[in-house]
Amino acid sequence: MIQTLRAAVEWDICIIGGGATGLGIAVDAASRGLKTLLVEKYDFAKATSSRSTKLVHGGVRYLQQGNIKLVIEALKERGILLKNAPHLVKNQAFIVPNYKWWEGPYYGIGLKVYDWMAGSLGFGPSQFLSREETLALAPSLDTDSLRGGVLYHDGQFDDARLAIHLAMTAADHGATLINYMNVEGLLKSNNKVCGVHLKDTLKDTSKGSATCEVKAKVVINATGVFADSILKMDDEHSDSMLTMSQGIHIVLDRKFLPSNTAILIPRTDDKRVLFAVPWHDKVIVGTTDTPVKNESILFSIIFKNTLRKTLAIQTF
Ligand SMILES: Cc1cc2nc3c(=O)[nH]c(=O)nc-3n(C[C@H](O)[C@H](O)[C@H](O)COP(=O)(O)OP(=O)(O)OC[C@H]3O[C@@H](n4cnc5c(N)ncnc54)[C@H](O)[C@@H]3O)c2cc1C
Repeated sequence: MIQTLRAAVEWDICIIGGGATGLGIAVDAASRGLKTLLVEKYDFAKATSSRSTKLVHGGVRYLQQGNIKLVIEALKERGILLKNAPHLVKNQAFIVPNYKWWEGPYYGIGLKVYDWMAGSLGFGPSQFLSREETLALAPSLDTDSLRGGVLYHDGQFDDARLAIHLAMTAADHGATLINYMNVEGLLKSNNKVCGVHLKDTLKDTSKGSATCEVKAKVVINATGVFADSILKMDDEHSDSMLTMSQGIHIVLDRKFLPSNTAILIPRTDDKRVLFAVPWHDKVIVGTTDTPVKNESILFSIIFKNTLRKTLAIQTF
């Protein structure tokens, strides 16, 4: 891949960022026959794309917000993903426990609409459950005031593996994808971006320069939460485009959810949607949603990983 990079004169498209977005763009571009380069600063899916709640969902919460168009699109994508990658996506049953009298009909009817919107790409019909049926599927629920539940189906996937498979698919279509290759600046001609300055962060500099310039007809900023840092390379006075938010999952032992059915709490006291989802021999609970000032705080959590470990240990 590095030799191909050195030999190329100009790329049709250079994608910055090897997360789900950048890798998906690489598959799309390469499969259309475009000469495609993707560069990733660390490893593929090192950032947000390996730290999700692992759900391929149709966006139940957007239904509650009335964003019908988004839900229809997400349900369609969910179905396509299951068809295209059945080895990475699986059907996951969820229970919405009901503690108030109105929750059964409210969530039950909402989830029937969700089923209907999925059409032929549906993952299975939702159903109303009695208190006993709910506890049989989710025995660790708080029994106090529990009236029953609603069972529905969504998808679960391995986010990091999906990213690697997207990278492999893009490579099969002729794309060049290089990790540990940092974009340090943008090349410009007539005030238009026409390429990138790269630094190979694994290169032994005693054997030659680690930096190079690459020309491209189109440069795509697919750096997710880091997108503002690329924008600032174009114009250091550009306004920030993003409002940062940090989400934390707590990883618990499976004894906290001793079943294969996940739990969805549609609204916590602080107005979040909360999931408790079985994941291998653990259960992932989350997420929080805390505004942060800039991505360097997220960086320290993502890349040092200490907080995740500390949380898991404290919980045990
Ligand atoms: C807590 C949480 C839970 C979530 N749960 C789900 C879920 O269950 N299901 C779901 O579908 N979605 C979920 N999402 C959303 C989903 O994870 C993100 O939308 C997706 O991962 C974003 O991918 P991305 O490629 O845009 O960004 P990222 O994965 O962050 O990728 C950006 C990449 O750009 C690279 N980069 C940055 N700067 C440079 C540079 N200068 N040069 C080269 N490379 C650079 C970074 O190293 C990084 O790898 C969740 C998000 C969060 C925060």
